[in-house]
Amino acid sequence: MENAKLRIDLGAIYKNATRVLKETDGGLIAVVKNNAYNFGLERAVETFYKAGVRVFATTSLKECIKMRDLYEDITIISLNPAKEFDLLRKYRISTAIANLDFVKNNLEDMKGISWQLEWAGSMRRSGCRSKEEMSEILSLARDNNIDIEGVWTHFSWADEFDQDKTYEREREIWLDALAAAKRVHKFKFIHAQNSASFARDGLLEDHSHVRLGIYLYGCLPYRECPKKIDHAISLSARVLSIIHLDPGQSIGYCSSFVAKEPTDLAVINMGYGDGLLRSRIRGHDLEINKRRYPLVSLMMSHSVAIIDEAVTLGDEVYFYGHDIPVHEYTFKGVASNSEQISVLNHMSLDVDYIEIDG
Ligand SMILES: *Cc1c(COP(=O)(O)O)cnc(C)c1O
Repeated sequence: MENAKLRIDLGAIYKNATRVLKETDGGLIAVVKNNAYNFGLERAVETFYKAGVRVFATTSLKECIKMRDLYEDITIISLNPAKEFDLLRKYRISTAIANLDFVKNNLEDMKGISWQLEWAGSMRRSGCRSKEEMSEILSLARDNNIDIEGVWTHFSWADEFDQDKTYEREREIWLDALAAAKRVHKFKFIHAQNSASFARDGLLEDHSHVRLGIYLYGCLPYRECPKKIDHAISLSARVLSIIHLDPGQSIGYCSSFVAKEPTDLAVINMGYGDGLLRSRIRGHDLEINKRRYPLVSLMMSHSVAIIDEAVTLGDEVYFYGHDIPVHEYTFKGVASNSEQISVLNHMSLDVDYIEIDG
């Protein structure tokens, strides 16, 4: 039987990137952290580059170096602060500034590197916590010949729509801090928005770039998102066997499913070892021959669905695909888009890339 399969549609991520580049007049930073959301760093970067993207961001220095080895003429941003100064210089990695203490303690080492001043906002992973801290860093940088080419933040509420409008409030606080910083320094890169924020607001005024991940990878960031998108993965397997259960009979470890009535089941060669989340199974469905069937059990390399007579041995079974998109299960509460994608196991699945056509 054919192996379970992950198809990655490079044409789709190409189209998504092209669309954003157009809407932002070239102002797209592609976020490629965690192996490009598990799409494969090299193939994803190559595809975005072909679409015209020239600025990339990730959280890992290893990925920054890999990208520099691929392309000389791109800007690479490390979203995490780093103290590997020689390496940052050698690979020309523009790096987040942690805070004022970091600058005070590393004035000499910071020379010859480009920096991205971070506003902590309500994320508070790192970055400046007040306008005073920002302006002190900017004046230290000016006096010591340190190149701050960017300023940025990451909204912690952009994907949520709460009563208190927390996103709108954190956005206002950032815009106020940004305005103060802009009065004393000229930035080449001003970027704050992830996919959800971009979908809500478009490119914010005075910002040079949006900084997108999940939208490029083909998932809608929230339920009512009005954006057009090309879904970019499909995850499929095959019907290995068809089992009939009489009432009271069970299947799986510890009788994980017990038939209440005569039931036909398909055993499918895909399990949690391939990266399917348990929450994706429970109470959810899959697609065979364009019809949906309920999933009832999950094992390491198998899953089980209730079927009808339309399903036959060897049929292709979709857990994700064009008509069964990842974000459908995000909105149903399974897990975030990136959680569902990043666990897919490239070692056990056959990974096929669909090339950009034409
Ligand atoms: C992951 C990440 C993004 C992209 O977020 P999406 O919601 O996937 O668009 C942007 N900025 C930072 C700092 C991130 O860590």
